[in-house]
Amino acid sequence: MEERFSNEKFVQMLSKLVNTSVFTVHFLMLLEFTYFQVTFLSVVNFISLLMYTICFGLIYRNKYTAYIWVTYVEMSLYMCIATACLGWDYGFYLYCIGLIVVIFYADYMAIKMHRKRYSGFYFSFMLVAAYLFCFICTRVHEPLYYIDKHIANLHLALNSAIVIVFLVVYIKIVLRAVLHSENLLKSMAHHDELTGLHNRYHMLDYLQNVITARNAEEYFLMIIDIDNFKKFNDTYGHNCGDYVLKRLAELLLEKCEDYSVCRWGGEEFLIVGQIDNNMNNQVHILEDLRKSIASEDFQYSTYRLKITITGGVAKFHRSFKDIQSWVDMADKKLYQGKNSGKNKIVA
Ligand code: GH3
Ligand code: MG
Ligand code: MG
Repeated sequence: MEERFSNEKFVQMLSKLVNTSVFTVHFLMLLEFTYFQVTFLSVVNFISLLMYTICFGLIYRNKYTAYIWVTYVEMSLYMCIATACLGWDYGFYLYCIGLIVVIFYADYMAIKMHRKRYSGFYFSFMLVAAYLFCFICTRVHEPLYYIDKHIANLHLALNSAIVIVFLVVYIKIVLRAVLHSENLLKSMAHHDELTGLHNRYHMLDYLQNVITARNAEEYFLMIIDIDNFKKFNDTYGHNCGDYVLKRLAELLLEKCEDYSVCRWGGEEFLIVGQIDNNMNNQVHILEDLRKSIASEDFQYSTYRLKITITGGVAKFHRSFKDIQSWVDMADKKLYQGKNSGKNKIVA
């Protein structure tokens, strides 16, 4: 929902930018053609300005399909009329190139926003037809108006510059948006939504690196499971349960700075790290972690709650054939802990 909202805002911002630029260019051309008494093009520019004024209203009301149609029809017709009036040397046909990029991006955004799609192919066909019209028209008859060779060169330079600058800025903005979406997706794929911790998918990736490292046997893995969490949910409600999961995740991050922590699923967490000196010492450290969680007050609404955890620890051993075997070993220890009174670490 939030992403869709930000897409709408982004499309509106980009459309306003494009519309303002096109409006300004038409306004300047209206002044120019009025000055050089190219009356027909002055009238055409005036009509274009009216159309782009309407386009501001369409953008404001999020009517992008109508906006795209008006823009494409206006630009295609304008390219043809301006070229027929002034000739090939003015370079109005160059706008085809910029517009083809725009329509394919508009189609991409329509898919993202679950709106009616634009057929980039048909719109591009319209532009190619306009381009061919310009080409053939300037081969079979002379321009209707002649201003000056320098003015033609100036237009060619300006039209080329506008199309190039537009393409550079547009592609830069679009690439930034694509990269942002990609990063967002990556982050969503690697993080747990409730706690913000890394998720199982991320941890499996990390564990794969650990087990293939030369010093893999220096690593331990611990599965933590909250004790009697179902009863906890039943007594204080699911929201309170969620709060406890979030707060526990914060505590784990705080207390396990040197380790990798993830939400393995439900009320289970996984901690992976390098063994400190020897396994006995490591188990003491993990025991301290368990005790500090047991002594923590979880303040929710008017409740002051306590939770306990049980942990199963397994050191990596070369005899494990894969990650699953390592996790299974820790899981076995966890269930030993659960079956022998809970609130303990079993290694
Ligand atoms: P044990 O001490 O044996 O682990 O008992 P338990 O009640 O913790 O274990 P059980 O697996 O029976 O229950 C786990 C509970 O965790 C059940 C489920 O409702 C709860 N749970 C799992 N994910 C979430 C969650 O995202 N939010 C909340 N609030 N509860 C969750
Ligand atoms: Mg469980
Ligand atoms: Mg549990």
